Amino acid sequence: MEPRPGTDLVAVLGGGQLGQMLALAGIPLGLRFCFLDPSPDACAGVVGELVVGALDDLDAARRVAKGAVALTYEWEGVPAGTARAAAALAPLAPPPVALEVAQDRLAEKSLFARLGIATAAFAPVGTRRELDTALRTIGFPAVLKTRAGGYDGKGQAVLRGAADADAAWARLGAAPLLLEAFVPFARELSALAVRGADGTTAVWPVVENRHAGGILRVTRAPAPALGPSVAARAVDVVTVLLDELDYVGVLCVELFEHDGDVLANELAPRVHNSGHWTIEAAETSQFENHLRAVLGWPLGATEPRGPAAMVNCLGALPDRARIAAIPGAHLHAYGKQPRPGRKVGHVTITAPDEATRDARLAQVLAAVGEPAT
Ligand code: AMP
Repeated sequence: MEPRPGTDLVAVLGGGQLGQMLALAGIPLGLRFCFLDPSPDACAGVVGELVVGALDDLDAARRVAKGAVALTYEWEGVPAGTARAAAALAPLAPPPVALEVAQDRLAEKSLFARLGIATAAFAPVGTRRELDTALRTIGFPAVLKTRAGGYDGKGQAVLRGAADADAAWARLGAAPLLLEAFVPFARELSALAVRGADGTTAVWPVVENRHAGGILRVTRAPAPALGPSVAARAVDVVTVLLDELDYVGVLCVELFEHDGDVLANELAPRVHNSGHWTIEAAETSQFENHLRAVLGWPLGATEPRGPAAMVNCLGALPDRARIAAIPGAHLHAYGKQPRPGRKVGHVTITAPDEATRDARLAQVLAAVGEPAT
């Protein structure tokens, strides 16, 4: 197919729903997209060209980047080496160092600590003996996590007492690990922000996230009843990281609200599931602002248009007509094959006030088969 005339090419490493939503935001801006993804069924393929190749296939990555005005990534698992190789052909943002940090929980937590960002007590664990030593320092309960490759709660074990150590080690001990103190948090939050090529930053309201089984289920924006000092701390965390990494693009930091403060859990150097509500309910969505940033354009305002919520559709889509019947509900189906636990879509809920938002949210939760908040 011939490229649409007058459009600029944006290259994206990864071709999942985040890539799809980047393209849906970028097509009206006169952009076209090329994605690299290992799967021929990658769902971004419906909104751009898809190059099927492994994410460590440097030649494939270069093919995707060739002729692009900007190169970005939509998954933090993209090897930094791939991003660097493709960056010879098109300007890359966010910086590959953000991938390296996000891919190693020890590097991530060490960066937080170095910048004075509060985080759970942590210690690297390489041997069974080091696990015992770390447990003596950190105490119980604790969470043992693989340093690399864990997402959506995979590669983790909660240790409630010494008796749990052997089983956790047997399950996870083959990989380099990190032990963290278990945080009895009040709730989970995330801070989403964007930094432009000129160093300007803009921040969306801090949101509240409900996870189950390590997977995000529900986001409410803004986080209800968030104290101003907690909100300010959350914004501070994300902006300190943006500046430290000389970052360009959207960055999300997942946080625990605990004891009137926030503890940073992890960062995602990309557009994020907890920011999907910005499509309908913010002046500029995370997807449009990510594109503006990586293209070197001025950022758009991040003000919310009103309270919003987002519910993930896991495993299968809900009845679409039932969602359409709920006022303020907007369905996004990604076109992925249904599979247990797989994110196949989401529903955003907009409303004039928080009480109406929560009432509509309850209707959407019932329609997708999620328990009420
Ligand atoms: P992660 O893969 O680090 O995002 O962890 C997935 C989920 O596990 C988080 O969203 C939390 O609900 C929970 N979790 C992770 N680390 C901790 C911790 N140190 N203390 C309590 N809960 C945690």
